[in-house]
Amino acid sequence: MVCIINNKLISQIAIILILVKVVHSIQIETKKEYVYKEHIIGYSVENRPIYLIEIGSGKEITLILGVIHGDEPQGKYIIERLKEYLKKNMRILKNKKVLLIPVANPDGFIKKTRVNARGVDLNRNFPTKDWGTIRKKKRYNPGRRKPEPETQAIIKVIELYKPDKIITIHSYHRYCNNYDGPAKKLAETMQKYNKYPVKSYIGYPTPGSLGTYAGKERNIPTITLELPNNISIEKSWLQNKDALIAAIKFNINK
Ligand SMILES: [Zn+2]
Repeated sequence: MVCIINNKLISQIAIILILVKVVHSIQIETKKEYVYKEHIIGYSVENRPIYLIEIGSGKEITLILGVIHGDEPQGKYIIERLKEYLKKNMRILKNKKVLLIPVANPDGFIKKTRVNARGVDLNRNFPTKDWGTIRKKKRYNPGRRKPEPETQAIIKVIELYKPDKIITIHSYHRYCNNYDGPAKKLAETMQKYNKYPVKSYIGYPTPGSLGTYAGKERNIPTITLELPNNISIEKSWLQNKDALIAAIKFNINK
């Protein structure tokens, strides 16, 4: 009995402590008009957490993700720089919310492989109508019909937050602002700043890609930002900082 009461007491105290913490953080957020949250949205095949950072509290939502291909780490570093910049320049986020997934494929990132720990190319693994129709090379392995846990985590974020636009950061020698869905103007806006060509087609079919899933099939403007793969992170950031800020500010509904 004593033990039960103690447990009850402990859980009540725990709830009170959590409430105090929540109230405290809400007060801080309102005072500064500042919202910054970190979530774990899922776990990789090898149980590594996949993080989502939420900045701002506005209605217009931009989802920016990196390293869906583990051997293209540039996205992580650009997103981390963007995060620091946004934290210091919150006025940019008036009426906006930015969701950042720095590393969508944490196992591939650690192993420096394009694919996840089960050998699946996550950017061919989305449940699209054209899923699995092309598998010329092992590196494009679309996986099974049931999406991989990393793909599921991205799908969950799209379903939960319903972003107005998505930017997925890769790297490639043919750098470009590739777009899917109603994103031509958004791609052209980014081009003004990063000077990369605007492309509606990357040059080869990408069945089961995020661009097809979100852009073509769900009409969410989606940019696949292919950074040059042979320049420093610093240079890449300088080339893309204003392009990313412009993309966040871009009002898609106008
Ligand atoms: Zn890629």
